[in-house]
Amino acid sequence: MQKPKNLRSLDIKAFAKADMHLEGETPLAELTRLAEDCHGDATGQVAWSAQGAMAAGASGKDTAWLHLEAKATVPLTCQRCLHPVPVEVLVEQDFRFVADEATALAEDDESEEDLLVLEDNFDLLSLMEDELLMSLPLVPMHPACLSEQVPTSPEEEAILSDAKPNPFAVLASLKTRKH
Ligand SMILES: [Zn+2]
Repeated sequence: MQKPKNLRSLDIKAFAKADMHLEGETPLAELTRLAEDCHGDATGQVAWSAQGAMAAGASGKDTAWLHLEAKATVPLTCQRCLHPVPVEVLVEQDFRFVADEATALAEDDESEEDLLVLEDNFDLLSLMEDELLMSLPLVPMHPACLSEQVPTSPEEEAILSDAKPNPFAVLASLKTRKH
């Protein structure tokens, strides 16, 4: 398989069968949904890599897998001082491709990896953007702004406790992030 030119239309089966490794840098501005969340202009790059493989699925039959890693520093808006706050976001996720939505639903609960339906024209950049969006903090804040913040109402307290990583919340988000 030749190196694909269009990352938004990837033949994922051929990619997996060739054990292909792709890596590159994509401007944040090209990921328009992510760029909308940025403070001012979306400057910077997403450094990413994608590794394809054929390996056993839930039924024991070989199927296509994708290991995706992405890293970016996203300029978000601090929810206290409203100045830009650079937030480093890391994604590392395994995906397994299944034949249809019904199989994805049936096998989702017992799978560590995320399940995706196999398509001929797979949009790798869109998947990467989804994963980065899910990894953004709900309430971005400078560490100094966070420690200065004293909750003045139950609503604000709820928002602030969201901003601090709570181990149980992290666990819950890991459980619910499957799609
Ligand atoms: Zn701040």
